Amino acid sequence: DGVSMAPREPTEVEVAVRVKPADGNERDCSVTVAPGDQGCSLLVRAGSRTDAGTVHKYCFPHVFESEGQEDVYEACARTLVSSVSKGYNASILAYGHTGSGKTYTMIGPDKTFTPYNSGQGIIPRAVCQVFADLGESGNWSVSVTFVEIHNETIADLLHPDQKDISVMDTSCKSNYVAGGYMTFRNIELESASSAEEALGYLEKGVSQLHGSENATANLHSARSHTIFTLWIENEIDGKTCHSKLNMVDLAGSERLWKMNPKTGALLKEAAFLNRSVGVLSMVAKELKRKMPYVPFGDCKVTHYLKDAIGGNCRTLLIACVFRDESHLRDTQSTCRFAEDLG
Ligand code: ADP
Ligand code: MG
Repeated sequence: DGVSMAPREPTEVEVAVRVKPADGNERDCSVTVAPGDQGCSLLVRAGSRTDAGTVHKYCFPHVFESEGQEDVYEACARTLVSSVSKGYNASILAYGHTGSGKTYTMIGPDKTFTPYNSGQGIIPRAVCQVFADLGESGNWSVSVTFVEIHNETIADLLHPDQKDISVMDTSCKSNYVAGGYMTFRNIELESASSAEEALGYLEKGVSQLHGSENATANLHSARSHTIFTLWIENEIDGKTCHSKLNMVDLAGSERLWKMNPKTGALLKEAAFLNRSVGVLSMVAKELKRKMPYVPFGDCKVTHYLKDAIGGNCRTLLIACVFRDESHLRDTQSTCRFAEDLG
């Protein structure tokens, strides 16, 4: 009857919280999910079960508790991913403390990927959806990049020997890269003509990641951001559109203590990482306030994502939390961060 829906706020960040299921070793559960007025509530209880005075209530549009990979994808990723083949830039980020389920959510528990494998995470599902959305016919091309940012240095996981990778803003049209006037110097795009081919690159990159073989490797993976990007060129109504989808497995959001001043190594790592977590939340807050100046350039990960966050872009942040009491502080800090965004 002539009433139309208000257009979606372009800089809105969609927030989801995923509670990692209990593995049986939890001493005490501190997170309860309850239906709320607007979406779902997450009740985080500090102290004993009977201590009702210390329950913190957070409200999010999506809270996942026992949902599997497919449910999570369908509930919060599918619509965003479908906007990408229509020419919009988008980013999906997993945020949370180490061990809370970021990699499980973004990639999944496996290191090999086949289309439509039920256990897999958001990245392989999005790859399949994008190719399905683009269809068999039509004038489109898809490329893939996969990078890791550690200690403010970008490494190309698909070309491990590549050096001097950097991200620059540019106003020069000749440097146009899908999605904006930015230059991703020395990052080589790999073209993929099918989901299988793109998943092959995902697999190649994952094999380059420091796995869980030992403590040092675990520390490295906890402290680095990884970004898998689909770059899409699609002809829509006779016009060539460039768009991209960033899928980001962020470093653990825990603040690092500065360690041994003699070696200095962790000192530097801690400084970079604490700053990138800080910049991320600052960027998110400025975007929300629609500030004219957003400090993207202050750290590598936000700079890298700059042309696909805010403005006309779709952004989804999945905050991952533990369920048990021993992670209470982590859960509180992640919920506060996520609530600030939503
Ligand atoms: P992070 O990347 O945040 O450090 P991971 O994704 O590696 O954490 O998760 C830590 C462990 O918990 C892994 O063994 C992972 O398979 C498991 N895990 C995380 N989330 C889930 C989930 N929703 N369901 C089942 N297992 C999970
Ligand atoms: Mg991880």
